[in-house]
Amino acid sequence: MAEPVIQVRGLRKSYGDVEAVRGIDVTVERGEVFALLGPNGAGKTTTVEILEGYRQRTGGEASVLERDPAKLDRPTKARIGIVLQSSGVDPFLTVRETIDMYRGYYPHPRPVDEVIDVVGLSEKRDTRVNKLSGGQQRRLDVAIALAGDPELLFLDEPTTGFDPSARRNAWQIVRNLIALGKTVFLTTHYMDEAQYLAKRVAVIAQGLIVAEGPPATIGGRDTAQTVIRFRVEDGEGLPSLGQVPLGDGTLELRTEHPTKVLHELTAWALDRGAELEGMEVYRPTLEDIYLELTGGEAGAE
Ligand code: ATP
Repeated sequence: MAEPVIQVRGLRKSYGDVEAVRGIDVTVERGEVFALLGPNGAGKTTTVEILEGYRQRTGGEASVLERDPAKLDRPTKARIGIVLQSSGVDPFLTVRETIDMYRGYYPHPRPVDEVIDVVGLSEKRDTRVNKLSGGQQRRLDVAIALAGDPELLFLDEPTTGFDPSARRNAWQIVRNLIALGKTVFLTTHYMDEAQYLAKRVAVIAQGLIVAEGPPATIGGRDTAQTVIRFRVEDGEGLPSLGQVPLGDGTLELRTEHPTKVLHELTAWALDRGAELEGMEVYRPTLEDIYLELTGGEAGAE
């Protein structure tokens, strides 16, 4: 069996007293997009930068392209694409010249026009860097990371601060990378981004992975219980279906059999001529599950 592109076991990182990453396991297979999803301060950037070789771990095992990321040699580094801010590049070079310059650093660069096409900058190939919009500069950042034709790309929060159409464009770029057979390690705050792009997602909260799996089933999403809420004036004889009072007179119950439970509730109410007031029936959204997993406030309110 092929060695995974990234393998991490019990990874830890402390900054003084702050335990930013508290023992996580991650495996990324070749050719997949893997998303590390979590709120601010969860430990995403710390994890990525350890894997990129920019930060030293405090504990645990890590392997990237079968090497220890703390001791990457030059040939291995050339197989990894890292997206940095292009603010450091010569503002008077054109897009094409910039990418060409970076290609010069690598043993097997990707053809310059192909790189420009993948990031959607074809119309700007002869434009100087200082004439690009913010979003176009971010695309150039990705293009620079692609110049050496890396096998593995790290994208750390690639769409934070983007407007909705720029996000869609960035997603298309990632899709293009998948089509090229690249392995992508992505971090994001956004559940929809992880769902759209990633084959597998790990949710990180306070330095620990709290759920992992395909976006459609993560956190028990596929078997999530339906939530039913209602109020009754007089609940005498109300069948016991596991409902709990929420404090404001509302009763809430969670069930895997909503049809049956609703039938019993409505039959009871009709029998008595009672009303199930303010009735709500809903399944937790992906957002609810994410918030629940990361310790936020979940629910319909
Ligand atoms: P965000 O989504 O806000 O970028 P993140 O998930 O990338 O967050 P990290 O940047 O990895 O989170 O930070 C994790 C924790 O480690 C935070 O509590 C942060 O304050 C702390 N931390 C990060 N870098 C350092 C540092 N260089 N020195 C001290 N503490 C740090």
